[in-house]
Amino acid sequence: MAVPIQQMIRVGAYVIKQHLMGVKRYPLVLMLEPLFRCNLACAGCGKIDYPDAILNKRLSVAECLAAVDECGAPVVAIAGGEPLLHKELPQIVDGIIARKKFVYLCTNALLLDKRIGQFRPHPRFSWDVHLDGDREMHDHAVCQDGVYDRAVAVIRKAKACGFRLSINCTLFDGAQPERVARFFDDVMAMGVDGVMLSPGYAYERAPDQQHFLNRRKAKGLFRDIFRLGQGRGWRFTQSPLFMDFLAGNQSYRCTPWGKPTRNVFGWQRPCYLLGEGYAGTFKELMEETDWDRYGTGHYEKCADCMVHSGYEATAVMDSVRHPLKAISAAVRGPRTEGPIAPEIPLDRQRPAEYAFSRQVEDALARSDGLRSGLPGGSVRPPRATDYLSSPGAEHLQQSANMAERNS
Ligand code: SF4
Repeated sequence: MAVPIQQMIRVGAYVIKQHLMGVKRYPLVLMLEPLFRCNLACAGCGKIDYPDAILNKRLSVAECLAAVDECGAPVVAIAGGEPLLHKELPQIVDGIIARKKFVYLCTNALLLDKRIGQFRPHPRFSWDVHLDGDREMHDHAVCQDGVYDRAVAVIRKAKACGFRLSINCTLFDGAQPERVARFFDDVMAMGVDGVMLSPGYAYERAPDQQHFLNRRKAKGLFRDIFRLGQGRGWRFTQSPLFMDFLAGNQSYRCTPWGKPTRNVFGWQRPCYLLGEGYAGTFKELMEETDWDRYGTGHYEKCADCMVHSGYEATAVMDSVRHPLKAISAAVRGPRTEGPIAPEIPLDRQRPAEYAFSRQVEDALARSDGLRSGLPGGSVRPPRATDYLSSPGAEHLQQSANMAERNS
């Protein structure tokens, strides 16, 4: 199964308990980003465009485990940056497993062969390997040749070692349904446990701003893919109602607190995708964030978002409230014909605000590394505007190259 039965039972029981206790907002998955540094510089990534003083920061083992305890979510996804660049990652994973949580360790797999011996298979542990399509699609998405082949080789090795492993596949405008379908056939043949599928989020700091899917195109693409997938036995790690949402059959609003994010800045507001501010504690994040300011229809930056980190929690909560609807979606699969569910109107959304420069300035002001942050090795104290003229593709690539050399 794409998701272990033990995990389904644990998460289902957790959700029902929250409902019975009348908890209005609760987390399902903690998104833990122990570092932003990466050894790739993907065109669609908006997570790593920071000066070195910030990229060099790490959450300690104690900080990571404190976040797990503070949040209380039954599942922890470790993301980044590239988590395998964090030297103490095995201790972090062991600590989370010891807390009876389910751990998904996201990786681009470039360091997996080197570090796989530091981890052990466990029913509550899964690798989550980034693969955005077949060889040509993926190497194009990550802006580097050979990454797909390295990832596939180590996927086979990890499965042979007995690890659970899923694929994290993000699709962009221009994806061809037939190729995506063949890619899903290929990864199923590799023996992966499941695929986590999502359209890319239009990160404002991503170098490539041309290939993000809008909602209309995304729904059409996913319908085409799911139509081709009928009877092919693909396994997805997301709930059937989320897949139905991707195919345009559910009018969901996002649940940003369902996957709260802890990174080197603190607890990120409002969600994994958008960094509009930071809270010092999880309690402060949940209680003091003005959630009504965010989401599709409320905020311009949310207009085209259909990402699992915002909507999977909505689908899971809907499944618990309407189990027959969820069972029906599971049995029939995502509906690929018929009318698209009504879209959320955008005419009252508030305009985008741009907080990146202030956050970088604040972080640099708190940092000891003021003199190490500039691209090109300048020694004057960096200004946030050094990173603002355009998403810094060149700086990102230099930074990724340095991470690869140092790993
Ligand atoms: S729609 Fe929701 S999940 Fe998506 S970016 Fe906006 S707040 Fe985050």
